[in-house]
Amino acid sequence: MSLSQRLTYALLAIPGEMIDRGFWYLVIAGPAWVILHLLLARWLARRRISDKPNTFRQMSWEFLYSLRSVFVYGLVGGFMVFVIASGWTQMYFRIERFGWTWFFLSIGVTVLIHDTYFYWTHRLMHHPRLFRVMHHTHHLSTNPSPWAAYSFSTSEAFVQAGIAPLVIFTLPIHPLGSRFSCSGKSRSTSSATAATSSSPAGSSAPGSAASSTRPPTTPSTTNPTGPTSVSTSTTGTA
Ligand SMILES: [Zn+2]
Repeated sequence: MSLSQRLTYALLAIPGEMIDRGFWYLVIAGPAWVILHLLLARWLARRRISDKPNTFRQMSWEFLYSLRSVFVYGLVGGFMVFVIASGWTQMYFRIERFGWTWFFLSIGVTVLIHDTYFYWTHRLMHHPRLFRVMHHTHHLSTNPSPWAAYSFSTSEAFVQAGIAPLVIFTLPIHPLGSRFSCSGKSRSTSSATAATSSSPAGSSAPGSAASSTRPPTTPSTTNPTGPTSVSTSTTGTA
């Protein structure tokens, strides 16, 4: 595959990733807000941890910060498509290549890697020299609404999305497995799958995604590592 083709795929993947991630953000955060903050608001009033109200102003900037993070995820998605289509990663497309045991094991391993990555990057961003620059935006939501799922600074959004490139560069992983185990690559790997399916350049790269035979198209399934997982990080911060 020529450089211009790989760049084209990467550029197309940016809005693709944004639509995919933005869709799940709205699908999960929207109903959560309607149910918890509108329908059950009176019933949950006495069960709230914080008495601070979620003002429209707060939810507005949580939403806008989240949209900005979605754009960052799009950029990282485009980068991933480029490197996968170039055959520079460990991603593979035929499950038979490493077998079903590794397929399921890789999901568990990646979950552990992601959890470790999140813990240490979070601790690092609490360092006084980094907190103001990278992590302050995240902690503006002292009483986060569901719209705060991706409420990060730009630099933190890159860090959060960085787990996906880290995994595909270091671990043989199938696109379907990666979709269930780490965030930031769901749409990207699907796009890359399509991109590498006709990649003569990639097919010559040893150990690359394209060194396998024609890859299947990744089905568009529910993204369990979407806003929910980020919400967990939001509420689990120190
Ligand atoms: Zn924190």
